Amino acid sequence: MLNVLRQIVQEVNEAQDLQEVLHLMVKRVSESISVEACSVYLADRRHNHFLLAASVGFLEGVDGKITIGFSEGLVGLVGEREEPINLSHANQHPRYRYYPETGEEKYQAFLGVPIIHQRRLVGILVIQQREPRRFDEGEVAFLVTISAQLAGIIAHGQIAGMVDELSNFDNQIHTTIRGVPAASGVGIGEVVVVYKQADLDTVPDRIIEDVPHEIMQFEKALADTRTDIERLKLRLEKTLLPEEQNLFDAYLSILDSKSLKADIIELIEEKHWAPYALRKIIKRQVHKFEAMEDLYLRERATDLIDLGQRVLANLQSETTTLQTYPQQTILVGDEVTASMLAEVPQESIVGVVSAKGSANSHVAILARAMGIPAVMGASGLPVYKLEGKCIIVDGYNGEVFTSPSQSMQIEFLRLAEEEKELYAGLSELRELRAETPDGMRIPLCANAGLVADIRPALQAGAEGVGLYRTEVPFMIRDRFPGEEEQYLIYRQLLESFAPKQVTIRTLDVGGDKMLPYFPIEEDNPYLGWRGIRVTLDHPEIFLVQLRAMLRASSGLNNLRVMFPMISSIQEVEEALRLLRQAHREVIDEGSPVLFPQTGVMIEVPSAVYQARSLMSKVDFASIGSNDLTQYLLAVDRNNPYVASMFDSLHPAVIGAIKVVIDAAHLQNKKVSLCGEMAGDPAAVIILLGLGIDMLSMNAHSLPRVKWIIRNFTVARAKQLFEEVKDLDHARDIRQHLEKALEDAGLGGLIRAGK
Ligand code: PEP
Ligand code: MG
Repeated sequence: MLNVLRQIVQEVNEAQDLQEVLHLMVKRVSESISVEACSVYLADRRHNHFLLAASVGFLEGVDGKITIGFSEGLVGLVGEREEPINLSHANQHPRYRYYPETGEEKYQAFLGVPIIHQRRLVGILVIQQREPRRFDEGEVAFLVTISAQLAGIIAHGQIAGMVDELSNFDNQIHTTIRGVPAASGVGIGEVVVVYKQADLDTVPDRIIEDVPHEIMQFEKALADTRTDIERLKLRLEKTLLPEEQNLFDAYLSILDSKSLKADIIELIEEKHWAPYALRKIIKRQVHKFEAMEDLYLRERATDLIDLGQRVLANLQSETTTLQTYPQQTILVGDEVTASMLAEVPQESIVGVVSAKGSANSHVAILARAMGIPAVMGASGLPVYKLEGKCIIVDGYNGEVFTSPSQSMQIEFLRLAEEEKELYAGLSELRELRAETPDGMRIPLCANAGLVADIRPALQAGAEGVGLYRTEVPFMIRDRFPGEEEQYLIYRQLLESFAPKQVTIRTLDVGGDKMLPYFPIEEDNPYLGWRGIRVTLDHPEIFLVQLRAMLRASSGLNNLRVMFPMISSIQEVEEALRLLRQAHREVIDEGSPVLFPQTGVMIEVPSAVYQARSLMSKVDFASIGSNDLTQYLLAVDRNNPYVASMFDSLHPAVIGAIKVVIDAAHLQNKKVSLCGEMAGDPAAVIILLGLGIDMLSMNAHSLPRVKWIIRNFTVARAKQLFEEVKDLDHARDIRQHLEKALEDAGLGGLIRAGK
């Protein structure tokens, strides 16, 4: 059974369009458990009905034509109950209704299972049979398993857009797709689809005009691939046995296959660009090979994919330079990455939408830092059909509107304009102090990771750097940067802000932050070799970094050193020992520098409970709310499946922050917060009420946080904390605080418009 399941899922995964996917599914299901009829219905929420998408055992030509209201018939009942319904005599059930167009009245036995993705019903899978009988447990389990797999596939983009295809996506009907709010603001613009280079699975469709040119590009890529393979063959001639070299001949014969080439060219002639035509035909062929019983032939599918990727890479080396960005670009992708975002000229980009990822993915952090509205985890997004289309991104509510009507476009343009005015007004706050009306100073600092972050931070009026992520310069190199290289980076940073303080965090890699030249393979990276654990195990890397920081602070003395991912006292003691060693060395070498202030990041539950002892070892603490939320709530910060559970206003997170602030204040030490929470308007009020001493955030958020601080007294913030502290749900806490922001006239910070 498992093999059958695997085969079905694999085939479905690789199918190209909705008809193919669903037809394949119903066909394979009916064959593998020998039932006479199998059908799949997709939920169309716009019209509140299910649409018969594919069937076997029904009359010809009904697919795509029958609709069943959400509360109609047995199919509707499966949807309402969200559980399997197994009937031997379906026609005796009070909810029985048959659709004469399908010819299904002859079937007595009925088994329907819901297809559910992340609590959301996406369709119904049904099997039927003439002979009245209850389907056995194995058959029910099989169907439930298939439907669970299918749900993920439908919702996770492999066939994204296909539901819309059936629901006339191309008819320009306005659709709302929900994701996770990742960077506030609204953007309206033209979609540019981005995708991984040389990845056949993610190549979008594009319409081209110059067919002969496209065919020429394709033929050139094919010829280049041939040369590549011949070169490989030659290189390995001495190493491989003659029969092993046949592999390359097999490759070459696939490349020379006339039908493969002709099929691809035929698609190009229909005005599809070459990478898509290649994807479509290769996938179709792969699919055929994989369906074969013969193991040897099945393996040929792998060769074909490999070849396809090679041709694609050669094609892309011709085509990538052609990418141009419209004035108002909205970057859309299955998985948009930080580097894809970085490639778009900043003045052209007005929004980012990614089908995968969450508000804490690096691209989301970057989007917030750049002030670009972003929605992540929009899994229902028909990514590959959006190229060149007009869409709206609402980063406040995590929504994307495709094919917006004229009036919606006008409304959102107005909101975007108002927002621009609001932020232009906020920039006037630059010279003003971050001080509450009742006289409490809360220094606002910037987070940084690149030298390019320095200018925006200074422009925004940052009172120093509260978190400099040193892993960023490490990540953009192809080896560990040496002491001198690091010294130059840190020196520039410290000089730019002197005499203001700059908190440099020691290398924090592991988890989702990987160095290309230092791969770490782990089953559970977030609970593994991360942050201080890595650097303590590699004093040769750690000491070089500490020495570079200390030397850079010579004569300026505005450095603060901070250790990430601290989970035990011993780690702080060891880190401090190495820092003292580095300091002695630097002094001995003739660079006079004061011993810097030291701090720990509080981002692991054990650090919360040991905050008091930790604080006795160092000068300050900084709460890393991103990781603290992740570890307290056991919610992966990058996983879209659980993204809706990630909320730093969860009562447990607020409780932990209170413990840390109180513990630090008992010892007269200061606490700052440098996670994304510091830029979240509702959270800022709570932090103020809890007595936070300093906040550090991306430069773009700084003016609006200053605006809040200048409008909320500590007394009012404390009162608001009292009002929410016993609420059970993050949602209620947020609502209460956002109402307070609206009442104070600051609603423009949490929704579109002024
Ligand atoms: C945090 O965890 O909140 C933090 C600031 O560190 P990073 O996001 O770099 O892990
Ligand atoms: Mg962290």
